Amino acid sequence: MSYLNTTEVDSAVVSLSTAYPSLCQLVTLLEPSVEGNTCHALRIGAAPTGTRDCAVLIGGVHAREWGSCEILVHLAADLLEAYHTGTGLGYGATSFSSAQVRTVLEGMDLVVFPLVNPDGRHYSQTVDPMWRKNRNPAYSHGPSCVGVDINRNYDFLFDFTTAFAPHSGVQVSEDACDYQVFHGPAAFSEPETRNVRRLLDSYPRTRWFVDVHSYSEDMLYVWGDDQDQSTDQTMTFRNPAFDGQRGLAADRYGEFIAKDDFDTSVLLAQRFCQGLQGVRGTAYTPKAGYDLYPTSGTSDDYAYSRHLVDPSKGKVFAYTIEWGTEFQPPWSEMSEIIKEVDAGLVRFCLAALQP
Ligand SMILES: [Zn+2]
Repeated sequence: MSYLNTTEVDSAVVSLSTAYPSLCQLVTLLEPSVEGNTCHALRIGAAPTGTRDCAVLIGGVHAREWGSCEILVHLAADLLEAYHTGTGLGYGATSFSSAQVRTVLEGMDLVVFPLVNPDGRHYSQTVDPMWRKNRNPAYSHGPSCVGVDINRNYDFLFDFTTAFAPHSGVQVSEDACDYQVFHGPAAFSEPETRNVRRLLDSYPRTRWFVDVHSYSEDMLYVWGDDQDQSTDQTMTFRNPAFDGQRGLAADRYGEFIAKDDFDTSVLLAQRFCQGLQGVRGTAYTPKAGYDLYPTSGTSDDYAYSRHLVDPSKGKVFAYTIEWGTEFQPPWSEMSEIIKEVDAGLVRFCLAALQP
């Protein structure tokens, strides 16, 4: 075994849909990638689609973070096989009973989208291992200025020069030649980002969202733009009175999150870390995204903010996993990380259903 190439990730997803037709359906994303690759997700669940609350799990957003796709492919395969055969799941020293597997598959819709950015992964695996963005040449001023960071392209404080304090250190750029974090010309300018939005729109009962990244051994909950606070409801990303103040640690501004939501956000992050630690003792840290570094336009802040911007949308508890201590560990180590993160995700799903 080794890392999958982009064709293998996609064929693994398609194969699972044909191997377990009564338990999952292949979801073809609305738009192909910039380079024309069709993208697939799997909707997994023993109950009819749309009759349960939904968890959307995505990976392969950042091209160089190779193992994220394998983490989600293995999770889907493990859950489907265990449910189909009526067995439990074992990940190192962590195990789940067959009843727990049934609880997950009968209790929720699970939508798994392992490879959001196929063009970037292919480029990373064949040309430039440290490539992060997609491969959109549309904003290029030359060959070194290709690509948009998908995880800065969501509609959350996208206009960071207005929203953030001048010296906030927010990790985003409006320079198309930035190798890492160019956010694109507008929110949702990229088909890969629009595909994720479309998934959230297509499953209106989505209550949980997890974006699988590397690395730093953290389980990040909202917010990413500033420190969390639950005392001043007016201090939010939607209030222009606070433009130019966001992103600093030791100041008055903090991003509002209702206390109940904060508690739930932390609890599910803790459950993920507990499930993961059981495999071989690795301790991940549950923490707010901001405590890694300030960001704008990320998937987790966007997913959680949707119900605040549009009250007709459901509330989504949203997370970013940062697995491991390097982008491309040797496969022997990656295979252990896959077990860890998958155990954490199964524990997360169980806690989401029965907090
Ligand atoms: Zn990443």
